[in-house]
Amino acid sequence: MARPSFTGNLTQQPPIPDEGIAAAVELMRSGRLHRYNVAPGEVSQAAELEREYAARQGARYCLAVTSGGQAMQIALRAAGAGAADLVLTNGFTLAPVPGAIAAVGARPVLVETTPDLAIDLDDLASKARASGARFLLLSNMRGHLCDMDRLMRIAAAEGFAVIEDCAHTMGARWNGKRSGSFGLAGCFSTQTYKHLNSGEGGFLVSDDAELMARATIMSGSYMLYERHGAGPDLGAYGDARLDSPNMSARMDNLRAAILRPQLRAIETAIAGWNARHDRIAGILGTCQAIRLPRRPAPETYVGSSIQFFLDGLDSAAATGFVAALAGVGVEVKWFGAAEPAGFTSTHKSWRYVAAQDLPQTDALLSCLFDMRIPLTLSLDDCDLIASHITDAAGAIGTGGAV
Ligand SMILES: *Cc1c(COP(=O)(O)O)cnc(C)c1O
Repeated sequence: MARPSFTGNLTQQPPIPDEGIAAAVELMRSGRLHRYNVAPGEVSQAAELEREYAARQGARYCLAVTSGGQAMQIALRAAGAGAADLVLTNGFTLAPVPGAIAAVGARPVLVETTPDLAIDLDDLASKARASGARFLLLSNMRGHLCDMDRLMRIAAAEGFAVIEDCAHTMGARWNGKRSGSFGLAGCFSTQTYKHLNSGEGGFLVSDDAELMARATIMSGSYMLYERHGAGPDLGAYGDARLDSPNMSARMDNLRAAILRPQLRAIETAIAGWNARHDRIAGILGTCQAIRLPRRPAPETYVGSSIQFFLDGLDSAAATGFVAALAGVGVEVKWFGAAEPAGFTSTHKSWRYVAAQDLPQTDALLSCLFDMRIPLTLSLDDCDLIASHITDAAGAIGTGGAV
């Protein structure tokens, strides 16, 4: 076949902006990397970042932490989830989500997935009623939002608190409202493969003063919580300061320094992801064998990755499809593999969670493929990659080798 192989890299992020590098160098020269190590009158980079993130998100409070996973663990614990509690969550998500539930000693109740990759709200409502769970850790997995208005009505009716995992929806909205501002708390990640890159890092946002006081102490503030940038009034710390265990998950100033310029430029990055995503989706959409998840009209998404289905594919054909694409330099993930690989895993590989039947999710995952869309791809790269995918999908069933 005449089409050239793709020789780029699907995991290569753009460099840190020069402004961030300069701020990091200046900070390292000062030696004041710890967020509470400030000169008289100085506001730390971490505190400034919290203010800026809260303002952008439209949240009262923001706490910067060491990872998205820590943001979720702290949010759950600060919300009161603990040993013996049941926590509803998506059956289709990444391992840090059930991991956060297990880390606070609670037990996940896994909820089914719709053909458009959102949490199944009918299954959620019936499992909420049957289990009596008081919490939902909602994972907006791969950036697909469910009907958030209906979800919040179900939460009110069934009496569970919603904590949003927005690792893939930083910048996304439902009916104009930002992902992460619907529930009791929102959790974000600034890990390299998410929408801001500090290597590792995360944010917890909420409008609830008591929850955020507990979360701030849990993050490892000792009694220095007055040095936070977007924390609650000191009066909210009354009981929290002595009742909350220290989980040592502070963000340091170095990460904050490189995140601040990225945050200022995030709308440009989002436009870049969506241009690439929509370019690839446009080509995949021309292939009969490929089904793309539908994007509901109220959703404003961030296309930092793309998912597609080859419905009805058996596992031998799926393995062949992935191998054919790897042969032309295009790395796609398949969610149907028996063994977890790379960043993918399924509920069957979370052996610390009681096994649960999710036939609908399993059927979807068996023919679901996933690819990152780094901003280092050009639009021509997107065309080439998408054409390789449609070639390989078209060759399935015809016995044609690619
Ligand atoms: C990456 C990710 C997180 C958080 O990840 P950290 O690596 O802990 O920052 C949470 N949920 C999902 C779905 C993710 O992909």
